[in-house]
Amino acid sequence: MTEIPFNKPYMVGKELYNIAEAKFLSMLAGDGVFTKRCHQWLEDYTGCNKALLTHSCTAALEMAALLLDIKPGDEIIMPSYTFVSTANAFVLRGGVPVFVDIRQDTLNIDESLIGNAITSHTKAIVPVHYAGVACEMDAIMKIAEKHNLMVVEDAAQGAMASYKGKPLGSIGQIGAYSFHETKNIISGEGGAILVNDEKFSNRAEIIREKGTDRSRFFRGEIDKYTWQEVGSSFLPGELIAAFLWAQLEEATAITEKRLDAWSYYHELLEPLEKQGLLRRPVIPEECDHNAHMYYVILGEQFDRNKILKDLSSRGIGAIFHYVPLHLSPAGKRYARVSGTMDNTVEYASKIIRLPLWVGISSLQQDSVAEALKSSLK
Ligand SMILES: *Cc1c(COP(=O)(O)O)cnc(C)c1O
Repeated sequence: MTEIPFNKPYMVGKELYNIAEAKFLSMLAGDGVFTKRCHQWLEDYTGCNKALLTHSCTAALEMAALLLDIKPGDEIIMPSYTFVSTANAFVLRGGVPVFVDIRQDTLNIDESLIGNAITSHTKAIVPVHYAGVACEMDAIMKIAEKHNLMVVEDAAQGAMASYKGKPLGSIGQIGAYSFHETKNIISGEGGAILVNDEKFSNRAEIIREKGTDRSRFFRGEIDKYTWQEVGSSFLPGELIAAFLWAQLEEATAITEKRLDAWSYYHELLEPLEKQGLLRRPVIPEECDHNAHMYYVILGEQFDRNKILKDLSSRGIGAIFHYVPLHLSPAGKRYARVSGTMDNTVEYASKIIRLPLWVGISSLQQDSVAEALKSSLK
């Protein structure tokens, strides 16, 4: 039995009260009072031109693919070491993900390899801010500008984190957040698209509202709404927004609590790193992270599956991810690789993610560190 679970979704306390209020206001469909508050908060916090809540980060990435007008055969550069939605959103439009290897320090896309992956078919780069630690955005934006490519930040794990002071998701033309219960700020399922380049803002509203200009109609800007272009229903109902609003109001406090827990692991595990048993996460100086994840990279000498089994038998809910997309059945069918995937394959086989949630006690963290130490001895 797992005594210390990998994740425990945290509720700040006002979520259900807000849901009751949404019901009282008789606004259950999307884009009501709570959704508007969330949009305003996200726009103020990130400085984006338009923030729109979505059902998920997956939905936000699918909107991005529609906004960029991805056509069959268009290529999109991204890491293979990521969640499936990064690639799937573009494959839905016939796009071809082109995978580039990751850096050894942050496990983010290696920006120095992007240039080699660019062809006449390349349309966009999708950096994934792994663990809420930013990719090298200055270099990535420079390459994109030089080759006339769009940048869609998969900032699913990046809410409340920044690069050189800029919130993640606000740097490329488009950014995508996740509010899934495994992320830092949550609404069960949930997400947002951040439109930074104003030229996409009107179409983003239309694509999200079934391809219609209903948003303008609701603002009283037009007297009837009609089908304008290809879209879908990407907006969540008010109950989700009401829940999320409670979390956004406490976003800073949530992040501070996670950072405290993260730093405590970092301190506890330093001796194990010094003994060559594992490597701890690396946070580059220009990155303010959000403690989305605490992971360790096991030393060469260990069999990860054995260690995970051992941790599990000690009641620790440690897990691993990702199966690199280029090795997955769909990845082989729909995507291609640029260069070698050596770091991707190596780190994906050595990583272990430790339990981290708001409310984990230092005693529980001591137990995790002790269990890990015993497993590695
Ligand atoms: C969680 C995650 C997603 C998907 O987010 P959903 O809100 O569950 O759709 C996409 N990309 C990355 C990198 C993620 O971690």
